Amino acid sequence: ATFGTLSDRLTETFRNLRTKGKLSAADVDGTVREIRRALLDADVALVVVKDFTAKVRERALGDEVSKALNPAQQVVQIVNEELVQILGGAQRRLEFAKTPPTVIMLAGLQGSGKTTFAGKLAKQLEKDGHTPLLVAADLQRPNAVNQLQVVAEQAGATIYAPEPGNGVGDPVKVSRDGVEHARRQQHDVVIIDTAGRLGVDAELMKQASDIRKATNPDEVLFVIDAMIGQDAVNTAKAFQEGVDFTGVVLSKLDGDARGGAALSVASVTGRPIIFASTGEGLDDLEPFYPDRMASRILDLGDILTLIEQAQQAFDEEEAQKVAEKFATDQFTLEDFLGQLQQMKKMGSMKKMLGMLPGMGQMKQQLEDFDEKEIDRTEAIIRSMTPGERQNPKVLNGSRRVRIAKGSGMTVTDVNQLVQRFDQAAKMMKTVARGGTPNIPGMGAM
Ligand code: GDP
Repeated sequence: ATFGTLSDRLTETFRNLRTKGKLSAADVDGTVREIRRALLDADVALVVVKDFTAKVRERALGDEVSKALNPAQQVVQIVNEELVQILGGAQRRLEFAKTPPTVIMLAGLQGSGKTTFAGKLAKQLEKDGHTPLLVAADLQRPNAVNQLQVVAEQAGATIYAPEPGNGVGDPVKVSRDGVEHARRQQHDVVIIDTAGRLGVDAELMKQASDIRKATNPDEVLFVIDAMIGQDAVNTAKAFQEGVDFTGVVLSKLDGDARGGAALSVASVTGRPIIFASTGEGLDDLEPFYPDRMASRILDLGDILTLIEQAQQAFDEEEAQKVAEKFATDQFTLEDFLGQLQQMKKMGSMKKMLGMLPGMGQMKQQLEDFDEKEIDRTEAIIRSMTPGERQNPKVLNGSRRVRIAKGSGMTVTDVNQLVQRFDQAAKMMKTVARGGTPNIPGMGAM
């Protein structure tokens, strides 16, 4: 996944460092050299790498490290802080106009993920109670209007598009009319999808710039494909000069990109990354948090995003009930079944587990994690009677044999499930009562 190799190499560098007590200047230089190589190999722009390593080196040789109780830890902390800076520092949210409609214009190369992002954003805005209008101003690419139509339908959003068959329309006029239409129809947000080219070209820039002038957007979001590598900086600069933008959307962060674009764009353009797009589905959109991303890269874990995703997937009321049951020891296999079904909604378990601290070092276990396990567990519980689900203590030998047969599993599978359920219930009881669970075991699953 994105940042995989970079993350591995940085953690490896820090592991070597951790075995040392006091750090000599040579230790620091060695570490900085390794960080520099890792960043360059991850396609981070040279200017950014130079600046970053110079800052890390200076701080690592200074007092805060030599006086620290644990110098190695302090260096990791410095790298973390500087990484957050590179990624833009504080989180920046989408800004809305004081008087609606808020106009959001999208710009970027063809294939960067603009249209997909338009749908994702519309869906998220709808969820938050907005009434977005998608404007199809990409009249260059055949089929672009259609594609936006499909995306809008999936997102449950309204689209404004030129009548088909009218020959080549004027994207500037369509954009201006779209905003006017939104105003009349009381849409509080307008998302304008503009044309992209495979490479940066003057005509495209002029068109985008004209659309900007005609619609006076509150946000111009530059969508950039994280896989673009070393070209990221030039492309971003060209768009900054040609149209200028107020924020960045990183797309395809789920892919095998080396992450260079992500680590270069914000510091080279001085514009914040506002969203991360992490898949082809319309729900694969996350707000971008520089600090959480840095933690992910350094394998310090991204617990906050994990919790937010869990909260989105879990029904609030349901979660409350379950927490009470945990605390009072009333959690049953029936509840467990409900939890598993909710968990499936949460999408890839691997993606989730990858956000836990230290998980980067447990790659193999993650790779081995079998999402079908949830299905098997479900099958076993479904073969139990309601009474058995309520009170697993009644599960004697013959009942277990019956359940194994019914679910197509072995008695050992059934035994393991009951045992794991016990462990999970114990662990969750601790959490529900405000304690810290023993996560590394992950016995819950
Ligand atoms: P546009 O030309 O800029 O409008 O780009 P599109 O939205 O058409 O996206 C180009 C391709 O990238 C499509 O096949 C999308 O499904 C895919 N895509 C867009 N965003 C993402 C993402 O975040 N992750 C992945 N894996 N694919 C994406």
